[in-house]
Amino acid sequence: MRVHELAKELGISSKELMARLHGVNVEVRNQLAALTPEQVALARKAVGGEAAPPTGLPAIKPKAKKAAVKPAPAPPPPEPVAPAAPPAPPEPPPPRLIIVKGPIIVKEFAEQLGLKPNLLIAELMTINVFASINERIEFKVAQQLASRHGALIEHEKKAPEPKPVKKAEPKLEEARPEDFQSRPPVVTFLGHVDHGKTSLLDRIRHSKVVQSEDGGITQHIGAYTVAYRDHPITFLDTPGHAAFTAMRARGANLTDIAVLVVAADDGVMPQTREALQHARAANVSIMVAINKIDLKSAVVDRVKRQLQQEGLAPEDWGGETICCAVSAVTGDGLDHLLEMILLQSEMLELKSNVRRPAQGFVIEARLEAGSGPTANLLVKQGTLTVGDAIVCGRCWGKVKALINDQGIKVRTAGPSIPVKCLGLNGVPEPGMEFLVYPNDREARAIAEERDAASRLQAISTPRRASLDDLLKPAELHQRWELVIVLKTDVQGSLEAIRQALLGIKSDKVSLKIALAGVGNVTGNDVLLASASKAIIVGFHVSKEDGIGALAKREGVEIRLYSVIYQLLDEVRDAMAGLLEPVLKEQVIGHAEVRQIFEIGKKGNVAGCMVVDGRITSRARARVKRADDVLYEGTLASLKRFQDDASEVREGLECGIRLDRFNDCQPGDVIECYEVQKIEQPL
Ligand code: GDP
Repeated sequence: MRVHELAKELGISSKELMARLHGVNVEVRNQLAALTPEQVALARKAVGGEAAPPTGLPAIKPKAKKAAVKPAPAPPPPEPVAPAAPPAPPEPPPPRLIIVKGPIIVKEFAEQLGLKPNLLIAELMTINVFASINERIEFKVAQQLASRHGALIEHEKKAPEPKPVKKAEPKLEEARPEDFQSRPPVVTFLGHVDHGKTSLLDRIRHSKVVQSEDGGITQHIGAYTVAYRDHPITFLDTPGHAAFTAMRARGANLTDIAVLVVAADDGVMPQTREALQHARAANVSIMVAINKIDLKSAVVDRVKRQLQQEGLAPEDWGGETICCAVSAVTGDGLDHLLEMILLQSEMLELKSNVRRPAQGFVIEARLEAGSGPTANLLVKQGTLTVGDAIVCGRCWGKVKALINDQGIKVRTAGPSIPVKCLGLNGVPEPGMEFLVYPNDREARAIAEERDAASRLQAISTPRRASLDDLLKPAELHQRWELVIVLKTDVQGSLEAIRQALLGIKSDKVSLKIALAGVGNVTGNDVLLASASKAIIVGFHVSKEDGIGALAKREGVEIRLYSVIYQLLDEVRDAMAGLLEPVLKEQVIGHAEVRQIFEIGKKGNVAGCMVVDGRITSRARARVKRADDVLYEGTLASLKRFQDDASEVREGLECGIRLDRFNDCQPGDVIECYEVQKIEQPL
């Protein structure tokens, strides 16, 4: 008996049963693991017949007598609830505000911070900024230093306060645990062409969606929801990894479970592998449907062997991947497939906040005669309700009507539920996010602002990732990552290059291959690279027609090579080049001030003796008096007698004029140093 079967019998979730088993020292790998009779007895004892509180989706109940299909249940409408006020923590003292105008000069800034200039100069050096007392520093640098001293800096405002920028997202109330409710899984079928993705979608739809009494006509709205044993499952009905990744490239990660469809007569094909890589790049849960088992030429075990080679070890062979043998023609195995989808989603514990303003994505949109712009939306969080003020990309509107996948007008749509929405003022692009705002005025203002911004953006070319401008880690200490889509001419070179790339060792930058495939660079590759913020590296391949333009639009860089070593070197260089060089100071010499000559307007000249090393006109210098550093900066001039010199060596006299510093005295030491940039190794 398997874990999920026993869980069903005991009326608790598989997860809960696994926890109970763990409590009695029975470890199981997953919900599909087989239990021995002793383990079953132990489990029954552990559960003790008590009805456990449900977690996640309610446990799958035995098949109902009649599989009545209702429109997907809408979550309850939000109720006003007074949030419990948390105890207020003690307020930290407010930071001091320093107003700066124009350029920030070290000396003035030190005064404003209440520091001695030399201390500030020393602090600046700790962050690799070498500025003299009279030099200006960048606002960002000043900000960093100010925060160290508990101060905030702001530029003096010349004009009256600009209008506050409208928030891009509506304000959300703090969510409470009870606001999160289980939501249906969103499933996509991926796989090789003609392996039966569309047939499976159609078969499931027709066998599980019963025409409702309200007499609606089944609508193709890009997704549909079926109820299997009263548990809703949403299927995206644009199958294939191209559509899947195109949505991801626009930021819409809708899918929870990808079902890889493999025809039992044909087996794993190139596009099966490609689809698998797309699904893996998206980090979604992966299951397999071995289709066309009704055919005489079907060999299920051969497909399982091939799947194992792709790293998808079937669970009945001791692996982790759920594989269901099905036929879209006869309907065999479909119930098992749906059951396994529910089981998988139970393990994923899919939850959404139903009380927040609705948010989700556009699956499709068009202009319909008689209805105006319509957008098929999939709600991710919250509950979309007729009358809501909605913003979708650059479009906005008041939701006039919501129509579900069975053509029935509904008032609300909760998480994972697809609906056709009427009322937008334009046709948004697929993959766009939609959000509900508190009122029409705010929604309209946001949409108009975005419209203006996107027109501006259209002028500048998008840039996402390129070999010279790789992804920067969002936070300090995070590792840098270079993501690559690799395309080569033949399988042999693919493996060789993949191994060589993965062999580039670095503690600081990691390399991830989102997809490795054979063939020319296609539109799918560009979309995957865009969605994964990757660059495309090709070896002995070319671009398909029109790919250059698409890549430019998506901001994806494509690099093609015909020499392996050049490819590897450039990737390695780019990885190394990503690391900031370390700045290192090297003292090159000291000069002692012997006498001061006052020379007109240009400032004083210090008559010096080079006591060690050398002084060069291009180096940086600091003036030391006893233990104090009085100045950090550069030389304005270096002279041997009357002539300009580029370098003066130990034991020779010279005249030094410092840039904007006139306070040298005999006995001061001018220390000359160079700042070297040391490239970090990988
Ligand atoms: P897709 O390209 O993956 O969407 O594949 P389709 O769903 O369009 O199916 C391709 C062909 O395979 C069609 O002619 C289907 O009738 C056929 N087909 C799909 N599923 C099955 C099946 O389970 N058994 C058999 N015998 N044929 C199937």
